Amino acid sequence: MSLAGKVVIVTGASSGIGAATAEEFAKLGSKVVLTGRNEANLKATETACKAANSKVELLLITADVTTDAEKIIKTTIEKFGQLDVLVNNAGYGELGSILDIDVDQFDRVMNTNVRSVFLLTKYAAPHLVKTQGNIVNVSSLVGLRAFADASVYCTSKAALDQFTRCIALDLAPKNVRVNAVNPGVIVTDFHRRLGMSKEENVKFLEDSKAKHALGRVGQPKEVADAIIFLASDSASFITGATLPIDGGRHAMCPR
Ligand code: NDP
Repeated sequence: MSLAGKVVIVTGASSGIGAATAEEFAKLGSKVVLTGRNEANLKATETACKAANSKVELLLITADVTTDAEKIIKTTIEKFGQLDVLVNNAGYGELGSILDIDVDQFDRVMNTNVRSVFLLTKYAAPHLVKTQGNIVNVSSLVGLRAFADASVYCTSKAALDQFTRCIALDLAPKNVRVNAVNPGVIVTDFHRRLGMSKEENVKFLEDSKAKHALGRVGQPKEVADAIIFLASDSASFITGATLPIDGGRHAMCPR
């Protein structure tokens, strides 16, 4: 897949989609920068990457994307001397009707899902221009479709989609591609972090099956595989794309 030896940053590599993505890049011989806040979980991803490829070169950076964007890029360049792929995966959501939420929710979610991506992109761009590299942003189905009680999260992912398109145009003359994936419901810790109990999460995942045309929810590796494709030369003529990885959910309409 043309990714051997490439230097790849995966934010949110400590869990779910990011951890699966890091493992797939490791399998293909990329040099992978694993970054996230939870050091123990980052170490678990490190172990999984090494199990996938005993020769893989890894760099662990314990960092918060809202405050440490410059450090993430700088430390990567210090260690590997270049950057080929940036996967902006770290993200989270909060719920609540506009009647109940406050501006602090807006700031928290937008800071993580949009502002940090702006900063990481800004600091990474000169290095990606040098390597003719690319960016893959992890957006969401909610960037393409609206949901009640999730206005801020939906807005953050819609903004990320538009940012993806705009930066794709900024960087196209430099032959740097920028794309996004828009997952449907994927089995990770994401929904527990939204505040669901274990039982609520089980019910949510079961109820979600029928909401995807393929009749099931997705696995982190299915998103990781799409990220790998977009980051590779197999996608050399794709930029500014927002690719649903959602079992056909984006195409569905209530009858
Ligand atoms: P997880 O909760 O399993 O993983 C989220 C990751 O983001 C963790 O590694 C977490 O790091 C990291 N993260 C969150 N905030 C920060 C921060 N401020 N600084 C650094 N790292 C941070 O969920 P997913 O794997 O599902 O989520 C990955 C992406 O996929 C998100 O952007 C999410 O919006 C998107 N997505 C998920 C869907 C799903 O159904 N699961 C559907 C559509 C999109 P740590 O734990 O170390 O703090």
